[in-house]
Amino acid sequence: MSADLHAATRDERRLMFVHAHPDDEASKGAATAARYLDDGAEVTLVTCTGGEAGDLLNPSAGDARPDDMGAIRARELEASVAAIGFTRNHVLGYVDSGYHMDPADVPDGTFARTPIDEPSRLVAGLIRRERPQVVVTYPEDGGYPHPDHIMNHLVTVRGLELAEDPEVALDDVPGGDAEPWRVPKVYASTAFPPERLRAIHQGLLDAGLESPYTEWLEQRRDERDPGPDPDTRIWCPEHFERRDAALRAHVTQIDPDGFWFGTPRDLERVLYPYEGYLLLRSDVLVNTPEADLFAGLDLPLLPPAPGTDPADADGQATPVGSDNAPAVGR
Ligand SMILES: [Zn+2]
Repeated sequence: MSADLHAATRDERRLMFVHAHPDDEASKGAATAARYLDDGAEVTLVTCTGGEAGDLLNPSAGDARPDDMGAIRARELEASVAAIGFTRNHVLGYVDSGYHMDPADVPDGTFARTPIDEPSRLVAGLIRRERPQVVVTYPEDGGYPHPDHIMNHLVTVRGLELAEDPEVALDDVPGGDAEPWRVPKVYASTAFPPERLRAIHQGLLDAGLESPYTEWLEQRRDERDPGPDPDTRIWCPEHFERRDAALRAHVTQIDPDGFWFGTPRDLERVLYPYEGYLLLRSDVLVNTPEADLFAGLDLPLLPPAPGTDPADADGQATPVGSDNAPAVGR
């Protein structure tokens, strides 16, 4: 995909998401991307692998895992990208490593086994070409411990370093002949941060409904560090529909009657109308919690969420249960 259908109406904000597999762009940040696109920003996507190792996770898609999962997931990705409306999608073409608890089990020739500089140089070339002011990757631990998600973080961070270094020649990769580019703000996306789980879980119970998260909350309490709550929340309930369309485009991966659709959407829009991010690095002073990924960068900001104090229209979110001390992320 390379056609830019909206060039005439774009402003200078440029946002880039780096994702590991087809469907990650739908489950992490899709409504945010749609909101920025509608507000006139350029939003590009980098997809590292083809998702070839994905299982068939949707019972209503048939009962046999297709032989050519890679080709099917490429088509699903295309449909998802169209639903969200990304300006461009860059597919790196690495082979999905599959989910492995033990890194020693990751097969040779897959993304997570690739020497880090090879995919990082590709990401760096795309950063030089696209010149995003904001890049979104995953947390250092991947957000969940899939080897490709951990690799996604490593490759993005290394790609950012290579892209800005004038000593690094990248002429052999697409976009690498463009000028070096320093990305001033870098975030990690979250899918189910603790505050979102708790808000939706409690809201469903209060409404007398069953919560699909009961077991998960128990398990997280017992077995796993639930991870931090976001320090940046993008208000995007009006774009959940585009996110859902993108999710449904991944027919082999997402059960339309399953987990991802377990909360009535009218309730979800009220209980947690955000997508959450963790600020990994900023060249500018920021006040957390932020309500705009471009806050502090002297670029246009999203209109404030309805009902928020117009005095907060400088990109700051209303604090949610945490202190609002200024912080410098770096
Ligand atoms: Zn993934």
